[in-house]
Amino acid sequence: MPVQSVVRCETYDQTAVNEAVARHFEALDVRGLLHPGVRVLIKPNLVAGRRPETAATTHPALVRAAALWLRERGVEHIALADSPGGLYALSALEPIYSVTGMKALGDVVSLNRDTGFQKRACPAGFENTSFNLINPVCEADLIINIAKLKTHAMTRLSAGVKNLFGCVPGLQKPELHYRHPDIEGFSEMLAELARLVSPQVTLLDAIDCMEGDGPTGGTVRHLGLTLASRDVFAQDWFAAGLVGIEPDSVGMLVKAKARGWFDPEAIELVGDEPVRAEPPFRLPQTASVDFTGSLPAFLRAPARKVMGRLLKPLPKVDPKKCVGCGRCAESCPPHIIVIENRKAKFTAKGCISCFCCQEMCPAHAISVKRIFGGRMRG
Ligand code: SF4
Ligand code: SF4
Repeated sequence: MPVQSVVRCETYDQTAVNEAVARHFEALDVRGLLHPGVRVLIKPNLVAGRRPETAATTHPALVRAAALWLRERGVEHIALADSPGGLYALSALEPIYSVTGMKALGDVVSLNRDTGFQKRACPAGFENTSFNLINPVCEADLIINIAKLKTHAMTRLSAGVKNLFGCVPGLQKPELHYRHPDIEGFSEMLAELARLVSPQVTLLDAIDCMEGDGPTGGTVRHLGLTLASRDVFAQDWFAAGLVGIEPDSVGMLVKAKARGWFDPEAIELVGDEPVRAEPPFRLPQTASVDFTGSLPAFLRAPARKVMGRLLKPLPKVDPKKCVGCGRCAESCPPHIIVIENRKAKFTAKGCISCFCCQEMCPAHAISVKRIFGGRMRG
C-alpha cells in the first residue's frame, strides 16, 4: 500500500523546510534504506537556468533539507545531478547550478560534473529496449527524486515521473521526443523510464508551484505543501488530483496504472490534511477541449482524429521578444527551426507539438496557435 505523506509548509524558510522533510522521511522510513557506504543521488528538477522564485526548478531549500537529514545520519556520499534541457556539458551545467541556487549547496552535496552516461536495458515486456542514463543515476544505491509540481505543455503534469526524463543525457531527450512523436508513445516511454529508474523516494516541492504554460513559461502559484512517497506514480496521481488536473488525463500515469505498477485506490494518506488548489491550476495553452465524450463510442476515435488536426497546438514565435539565442533550434526534435537575422523561424512542416522550443526559450517568445482554439481546466 503506497503511503502518501503530506506536510504543509508555507515558506522556503530553511528551518521550516528541514522540519517538513524530516517528517516525510520519518513517515516513509527512509532511515531503513540507509546502510554504511550508501551512495545517494538527489535528482532535482533543473530544467533550465531559472531562478528559484520563478518556480520552474526545485527550490534549493528542499535539497539542502534532504542532504542535511542524510548527513545527520552519517551518509557521506550525496551527489546532486540532473541533465537539463539543451547540451549536457560542463559549460552548460555550471551556469545552471549558479542561477538555480544549487551551487550554494556545495557544502552538503557533491554537484555532478561527470557528463558521461551508460546504456541500461529495460526488463522484458517493455516497449523500449533500453535507455541511456547519466552516470550518477547508474552509480547510486538510493535515488531521492526531488521534483517541482508544475503544469506541462505536453504531458499536462510535471512532477515526479516527468522529472526523471532528466536522467536521459542532454540532446538525447529531443531524440526520444522524435522517436515518440505522439503523446501516447511519449507517455509510455516516460512511464517505462520511471519504472526503470525506480527512485526509492519522491519528494515534491509544492510550496510555490507553476501553473499555465509550464514547465518554464507559466506563472507562480502558491500551494504551501510538500508531498512525499516511496511510489513515484502514486505520488503524481495524488498530486494531479490536488491541483485539479484529472489524473486520468495524464498519459504517463494512465499507462503505469494499466500495467499494474500502482493502485491509486490503495494510497494511504499520512501527515497533514491536504489543501486542494481552488480554483484548479490553470492549464497550458496547449490543452485542448475534448468534447467527443458526448458522442457514441464508435464515433469518438474518428472524431478525435479529425478534431485533433484542427485543434493541434503549434508554436508561434514573437519576433519582438526573440533574442536569437538558438536554444529552441538546438532542442527541436525534427530540426525545423533555424535562426536567421537573429530571429527564430519555423522552416518546414513536421512539428510534433512537443513544445521543447517553448520550454527552452529564455525570452518567453514562443506562444501557442491553432486553427480552432479552446482551453480546458483539469
Ligand atoms: S517546433 Fe517546437 S513544438 Fe514543434 S517539433 Fe520543434 S520543438 Fe517541438
Ligand atoms: S525563440 Fe526563444 S529560444 Fe528561440 S531563438 Fe528566440 S529567444 Fe532563443
